[in-house]
Amino acid sequence: MPVAYAERLRETLPRVRDRIAEAARAAGRDPAEVRLVAVTKGHPVDAARAALAAGLADLGENRVEELAVKIEAIGRAGVRWHMIGHVQSRKARDAAALADLVHSVDSLRVAERLGRAAADAARVLAVLVQVNTSGEGSKEGLAPEEAEDAVPRIAELPGLAVRGLMTMAPLTDDERLIGSTFARLRELRDRLRSRSERVGGELSMGMTNDLAVAIREGSTMVRIGTALFGERR
Ligand SMILES: *Cc1c(COP(=O)(O)O)cnc(C)c1O
Repeated sequence: MPVAYAERLRETLPRVRDRIAEAARAAGRDPAEVRLVAVTKGHPVDAARAALAAGLADLGENRVEELAVKIEAIGRAGVRWHMIGHVQSRKARDAAALADLVHSVDSLRVAERLGRAAADAARVLAVLVQVNTSGEGSKEGLAPEEAEDAVPRIAELPGLAVRGLMTMAPLTDDERLIGSTFARLRELRDRLRSRSERVGGELSMGMTNDLAVAIREGSTMVRIGTALFGERR
């Protein structure tokens, strides 16, 4: 076992779990409702191995190539592999074959490609639809108004199961702004679910700097890299 990452996780993982538990309790929620996805992007395979050895079963990557490298080295047994970054159309087939959950479906076109690839392989691919609830121009994801129409359509596509929604907070220290970005995703989920029973309830939101706010606003999956593994190169 690579000592560096294993040792680091011995310190960082309990701290991250404490932050999650504290935020959940403060919000009157059960900490078990919040899944920790360990984001190993930008770190070597050793980081992913150490995470598994430390008991983390959900690992996230933001590039299909890097996901493929990690899976090649580690395999699939006992791991749920999360694809959390933008999926280019030409990578959709690989993403559909590799990921257990794609968090970042950000267009009907990508959804169709993923669905077709999964259906061809006689699989159902679990996905989240990424929504740009901050409105920041640099962010991927459907605009919330677009999502109102697109998500129920995506949920009807063969080969896909829409488990819920994903968003990223704006780049700011303003906690109120971050909170409203997350609240907007929760409200959108609630509206969509009242209209389509094919839309699931998961909310993937919260990273190293904003996980407590995300949990307060209903996150069911936090995607944590830096707080677990340190800065990326
Ligand atoms: C990198 C990344 C994360 C993890 O971010 P940290 O701030 O390092 O915790 C989460 N979600 C997405 C989509 C990412 O690209």
